[in-house]
Amino acid sequence: MNPTALFKLSYGVYVVSSMDGDRPTGCTANSAMQITSSPATIAISINHNNFTNQCIEKTGKFAVSVLSEKSNPQIIGTFGFQSGREVNKFDSVAYEWKEDMPVVKDACAYMVCKVINKMETDTHTIFLGEVLDADHLEKEEPMTYAYYHKVIKGKSPKNAPTYIPDEILEKEGKKSGEEKTVKYVCGICGYVYDGETPFEELPDDFKCPICKQPKSVFVKKES
Ligand code: FE
Repeated sequence: MNPTALFKLSYGVYVVSSMDGDRPTGCTANSAMQITSSPATIAISINHNNFTNQCIEKTGKFAVSVLSEKSNPQIIGTFGFQSGREVNKFDSVAYEWKEDMPVVKDACAYMVCKVINKMETDTHTIFLGEVLDADHLEKEEPMTYAYYHKVIKGKSPKNAPTYIPDEILEKEGKKSGEEKTVKYVCGICGYVYDGETPFEELPDDFKCPICKQPKSVFVKKES
């Protein structure tokens, strides 16, 4: 099986949020899809290791904020590459309340759902949610997962349903005859530097545009 064939499925980029008691929390997600229109229901897939999973389980509610192409990519880093167990992720991101759920302001749409069913897999829970409220926030195009990979040069966190280990990607790349390349990769979030200035010549205060970590966490990779 060539797992990179699964890259041909299309996704968006979302923040799935819920409540930990009085504390808003959430995680980045790429798997959300509409299941029925009447009543409006959507399904999301959340890794068992994501703190948000147990918060949705407890509250029976979640919100999906649909990020746009103009959304600050640091939102993806804030929600995708650290845990809500240790960090108040919403402290650094503007949000508003909808149906008692936190919704990211810098997004093009949101929907708030109550959980009406769920299904367990080995690694992820699929929550089926009936939409209680939904609306547009900004008039921007939604960010697709392809845009995130190609334009923002982002990677999937390990907990994403679409995560494929680098070793397999490199093996498949070699099989398809790609030339050997040197790249600088953020050791925290996997962002691949792609600027015009050679990486070595970047100023010392350069920070990863996704997770805000310093230049020193980048590692040189040859493949
Ligand atoms: Fe990073």
